[in-house]
Amino acid sequence: MAKDYYKILGLSKSASQDEIKSAYHKLAHKHHPDKAGGEEAKFKEINEAYSVLSDPDKRKRYDSFGAAFSSGNARGFNSASWNFEDFPFTANGNAADFGDFGDIFEEFFGFGQPKKKTTTGRGKDIVVDAEISLEEAYSGINKHLILNKYAPCERCNGKGMEPGSSLSTCKTCQGRGGLERVEQTFFGTFTRLTNCPNCHGRGEVPEKVCTTCRGEGRIKRSIKIDVQIPAGVDDGETLKVQGSGETGKYGLQSGDLFLNIHVKPHALFQRKGNDLWIKAEISFPQAVFGAKIDVPMINGEIKLNVPSGTGGGKVFRISGRGMPYGYGRSRNNAAAKGDAYVVISIKIPHSISKKTQKLLEELEGEL
Ligand SMILES: [Zn+2]
Ligand SMILES: [Zn+2]
Repeated sequence: MAKDYYKILGLSKSASQDEIKSAYHKLAHKHHPDKAGGEEAKFKEINEAYSVLSDPDKRKRYDSFGAAFSSGNARGFNSASWNFEDFPFTANGNAADFGDFGDIFEEFFGFGQPKKKTTTGRGKDIVVDAEISLEEAYSGINKHLILNKYAPCERCNGKGMEPGSSLSTCKTCQGRGGLERVEQTFFGTFTRLTNCPNCHGRGEVPEKVCTTCRGEGRIKRSIKIDVQIPAGVDDGETLKVQGSGETGKYGLQSGDLFLNIHVKPHALFQRKGNDLWIKAEISFPQAVFGAKIDVPMINGEIKLNVPSGTGGGKVFRISGRGMPYGYGRSRNNAAAKGDAYVVISIKIPHSISKKTQKLLEELEGEL
C-alpha cells in the first residue's frame, strides 16, 4: 500500500510545514464527510498523509523508506482501526482552531450521524458500600438500602406540574424538545441539536408549576431501594443498578446506583475464586485407623471418610460444595458451583495426662 502523501496533499517533496498545514486545512475542509460532496475515504487519506508529513520524525522516515514506512510503521492508518490516538489534531493540539474541542471530536467520529440530545441534567450516580457475610454471598440476598437522594416528586409524580393542571406544548421549540443550533466550525457549518432550555427537552411545559419541586419533578428524600445481590458475588465486585441513582431533573435520565460489595472474612472458610477451603483436625489414632468425621460445608455438614494412614496436610476435594457462579447472571439461570477443599491436620495435645504419657512412651518403642 504505497501511498504518495505529497501527492495526496498536492505538494512537492520540498513543501514547508506551513505549506503542508495549509494544504491539509484546505483539503480536509473540502472533503469532510459531513459536508455536501464530502468523502470519508478521501478525508481519511488526507488525515493519514497529514499525520505523517506534519511530524518531522515521521516525515523523515517516510522520505527515507517511503512505501516500507507507509505499510509498516504508520500506526493505525493502514488497518481498519483508525483510532483516536493517531488523529493528527490530538498530537498537534490545535484546539484553538476548533472551538469546543470535545464537540468537534464527536462530530468527526460521528460522521454525519444525527447527534443525540445532550444529557445535561441527568441524575447523579450513587456509590454505596454493602458488607455481607460469606453465607449471604453464597445464597444471594435482597438488601434494603435507605438512601437520601433525589427521587421523583410525590406531589406531581415527577411530572413537574401542579395536580389538576396540565402540560402544554412548549412554544420555544414547538414541542420538538430540541433546538437546532447552527455552528460555524473550521470544517464548515453544522447543525446541532440541543435541548430546548424552556422545556428541558420534554417538548411540553407545565401550565402551573408544582409547588413542591418547583417543576423539577424531583425532590431530595429518603427512599428505600431493594437490591438483589446475586448468589456467588465476590468481595470487591461492584454491582450496577441501572436507573437507581438520583432522579434526573425535568424527567431527564436518572443516574445509576453502584454497590461495592465487601464480603466479611469467615471464621471457617477461605474463598479462593469459586472454591472454599476449610481445615479439619483429626486425632493421631484417627489418622492411623481412619475415621468418619463431620466437616462443616457452607450449606450444611458432610461426613468425610478419612482413610487409615492419612497424614497432616492431606487435601480432600468435595466436588460442587464451593461458591455458586453464573447464577442469576446467565440467561439460563444455571448455577454452577466451585468445589470445597478440606485440609487435614493432626491434633497435637498441649498437655497430657500421666496415663497418656505412659501410653505414648510405650507406642514410641513400638514404632
Ligand atoms: Zn421546548
Ligand atoms: Zn413536584
